[in-house]
Amino acid sequence: MNKEKILLGAHMSIEGGLHKAIERGQETGCTVIQIFTKSSRSWVAKKLTQKDIDLFKETQKKSSIEIVVAHTSYLINIGSSKPETEQKSVKALEDELERCDLLGIPYLVLHPGSHLGAGEETCIEKISQNLDAVLEKTKSKTTILLETVAGQGTNIGYTFEQLKQIRTLCKEKKKIAVCLDTCHIFSAGYDIGSPEGYKKVFDDFDRTLGLKLLKAIHLNDSKTELGSKKDRHENIGKGKIPIEAFKLIMNDKKLSGVAKILETPIQENYSEYSDEIKLLREMIKV
Ligand code: ZN
Ligand code: MN
Ligand code: MN
Repeated sequence: MNKEKILLGAHMSIEGGLHKAIERGQETGCTVIQIFTKSSRSWVAKKLTQKDIDLFKETQKKSSIEIVVAHTSYLINIGSSKPETEQKSVKALEDELERCDLLGIPYLVLHPGSHLGAGEETCIEKISQNLDAVLEKTKSKTTILLETVAGQGTNIGYTFEQLKQIRTLCKEKKKIAVCLDTCHIFSAGYDIGSPEGYKKVFDDFDRTLGLKLLKAIHLNDSKTELGSKKDRHENIGKGKIPIEAFKLIMNDKKLSGVAKILETPIQENYSEYSDEIKLLREMIKV
């Protein structure tokens, strides 16, 4: 595998403008970055101007960044049993899909949703209906990536089977794929820490969803144990996931076309990612 060409990067801040994230990614040695296209903790956003869009696209064209992935705001819950939150979430997701479309971003990562006590089946149906509604309305070229979650609280998407159920119920399947988060699946109980375990987990993914649907991987270690159901990211090699798991991912030819993105903790700024990117790159056996 080509060490330089590998699709590897990290989540980058958009402080100072969207194009700044691309510059930061480039400086950090990324070939892929993830961004929020707006503040991750607010419902509303300033409309994108043509100038913002052009600057973003031009900066990317001149850069080493081959793929930009967007992540939705943490407030969105399209599976909510509270009508007001559900409506707000659908509207916000529409807006985010449109922003991605304008910016030429191919993938938008979404946490499927939380049922808040209403039950998993109802929530899965609601998520599917809302995905269809949003995709039909926006006609965005962007694909939504349902992210595997740790299973904290009443979150949906802690098994590959649940993601499959959501997608199966959708009409707009072509616009729905998957993002796998190593911290989340480990916390959800998927043991990727040994070659046997790794094979079992990825065979399961392939059988249930199909590896072709895997478009992004969040590379995060976990502060908490296998099956803990907690979402606590840790730096690669410093958490509970055996380092073997990351070596297996970095050398898995079936995953060579999948965007790999760090969302590990940083103390002060993005440049700290360059060490982790180097560490992961060095795991690749030529
Ligand atoms: Zn996420
Ligand atoms: Mn993630
Ligand atoms: Mn997480």
